[in-house]
Amino acid sequence: MGKSSKDKRDLYYRKAKEQGYRARSAFKLLQLDDDFHFLKDAVRVVDLCAAPGSWSQVLSRRLFPEGGNISDRKIVAVDLQPMSPIDNVIILQADITHPKTLQTITELFEGKKADFICSDGAPDVTGLHDLDEYVQQQLILSALQLSTCLLRKGGNFVAKIFRGRDIDMMYSQLGYLFEKVICAKPRSSRGTSLESFIVCLGYNPPSDWEPKLDVNASVEDFFQGCEIGKLQLGDTLPAYHEEQRSIATFIACGGLSSFDSDATYHVDTLTPALDPVQSPTNPPYKKALELKRKGKLTLTT
Ligand code: SAM
Repeated sequence: MGKSSKDKRDLYYRKAKEQGYRARSAFKLLQLDDDFHFLKDAVRVVDLCAAPGSWSQVLSRRLFPEGGNISDRKIVAVDLQPMSPIDNVIILQADITHPKTLQTITELFEGKKADFICSDGAPDVTGLHDLDEYVQQQLILSALQLSTCLLRKGGNFVAKIFRGRDIDMMYSQLGYLFEKVICAKPRSSRGTSLESFIVCLGYNPPSDWEPKLDVNASVEDFFQGCEIGKLQLGDTLPAYHEEQRSIATFIACGGLSSFDSDATYHVDTLTPALDPVQSPTNPPYKKALELKRKGKLTLTT
């Protein structure tokens, strides 16, 4: 998070720096947890796609408040990018779609199941909207696959989603695995963005359903036995009935008294801009900056 006039325009951006969070997205998880309390009593938690680490900071502060009996608590944060250390967080630089990542987390938890898993994953955007939406869906599916292998019965899962065309199908699919599925929009998430968060409470898969991590599995393969997406090519029409689609409850969280992320607030112009909490460790643009500095950055056609 840099130091710029954005301080004056985006209150959450400024507040994140004031409170020592590495990114403004910390407030999204804080506002979600204030409404749904999924971190209450959580012992083992996983933060998928965690860099630069503001969600991990929230997890660390909520799971390790001063003075609590905290000896058995464990937080694991996973990202492709390197992350600077955070108190009480084990950082894994790994790909969430790789089976080895599941194995490593299972070992870190000594075979015990997780109580809460979150994913704020976002792939690098290409600008090709259909491709971007597809890659984002695949990332959510990977996070979900990993979560079904790691979560205890009754555990909770939260993931960032973009409300596209087929989102109602995803709600019904998740409804087969969790007792309650809610679509939530925290006040700190801009109203102008399609971003929302899917809050899945009470992991409770069908008794004969086997969780598996297979990046090559289609959504239909993954949800096999869940009675959805089941129309086969050879099926005769009488066997066909409309696939169930459901509309998840939509909740705006953060309360009316919290700041509106789309509003501009007056900030005392005498208040100096704050320094970034954590400089990027290895940003994708680092190489381009180095080349530019050496005058070697050229346009390819
Ligand atoms: N929640 C984070 C925070 O509060 O600081 C911000 C997460 S950022 C929006 C999205 C992250 O997803 C990026 O750091 C990116 O490296 C990560 N990511 C994307 N694909 C991934 C993958 N396959 N495995 C692990 N991390 C991934």
